[in-house]
Amino acid sequence: MVNWLILLKFKKKLFVLTFLLFAQTCTANYNLFWLHANSGLWGFFGHKRINRVAIFSLPPAMFGFFKENIEFLTEHATDPDKRRYAVEGEAQRHYIDIDHYALGGKNPFEEVPKKWNDAVAKFSEDTLQAYGIVPWHILVMKYRLQKAFETKNVDLILKYAAEIGHYIGDAHVPLHTTENYNGQLTGQRGIHGLWESRIVEMDAENYDYFVGKSNYINNVLDFSWNAVYTSHMAVDSVLSLEKELTATFPSDKKYAYETRGQAVIQVYSKEFCDAYQLLLHGMIERRMREAIIAVGSIWYTAWVDAGQPNLSELTSTPPSPELLKELEMLNETFQKTEHKGTICDD
Ligand SMILES: [Zn+2]
Repeated sequence: MVNWLILLKFKKKLFVLTFLLFAQTCTANYNLFWLHANSGLWGFFGHKRINRVAIFSLPPAMFGFFKENIEFLTEHATDPDKRRYAVEGEAQRHYIDIDHYALGGKNPFEEVPKKWNDAVAKFSEDTLQAYGIVPWHILVMKYRLQKAFETKNVDLILKYAAEIGHYIGDAHVPLHTTENYNGQLTGQRGIHGLWESRIVEMDAENYDYFVGKSNYINNVLDFSWNAVYTSHMAVDSVLSLEKELTATFPSDKKYAYETRGQAVIQVYSKEFCDAYQLLLHGMIERRMREAIIAVGSIWYTAWVDAGQPNLSELTSTPPSPELLKELEMLNETFQKTEHKGTICDD
């Protein structure tokens, strides 16, 4: 049995450890890290942190198995981003440009049917795919994870748990719910990485990650839509506060230059990030905490809906060499691929 009070006491230790592990990974894969820090999508840092911490929201019957596989679930939180460059149909699983459906001042959340078949009937599948499908894909992944639990397939439980954590994380990012995803329509290019990578990497050690226990979710599709809705409600603040700040902030202090490997690159300065954080009133931390409890809750719901299989039988079964090989190949392909100009940093 896991004692929640003990967990609380060890919270600080956990995050020190998490940070050290991250720092180690970061040093070893510096170039890789930087590529992703720029590609947004909570960056590699944020996605790994969300999956890692979500494990500690799980009930005792799940905690042992997930804790045993904490490194896998952390490391592979970013696999869907690696796949977006290589697999057709992957990219749109990470976002929904819900404001595309707001033509004529209509409420897009009333315009777009919640259920996939109804939405296809109204807008066509091509349109839905073109503007993103994240709320529906979370439901698809939940069923896959549930099936993996039902069959006690360790490889698939780990793979789908890691991946659904990624999509849930993306649904909690405001700029994943708008066509103006990188401020490119309002002269704010770069804001995507500022919000979900630069600031997260800078401040994540100060965030409070004790999110409590995961909850059973009665309706996963409604839950996913609600994540998108709350993200979208924050889009206006994300953009307008940056614009206001830029108008008053000394223009020669907005950016700084850092050396990354052989290159000198322009980044938002710490001063600008701090000032933006103040204006956001903790929004990034709040969205990250909501993503963490959402990931834990959907893992838990998939397990309950699978009939609560005994995971202690699986604790000593590691992911298979075949799965590890497959994912290593994905990683190698990703590292060799040129991503410049794709997704969030164009
Ligand atoms: Zn993503």
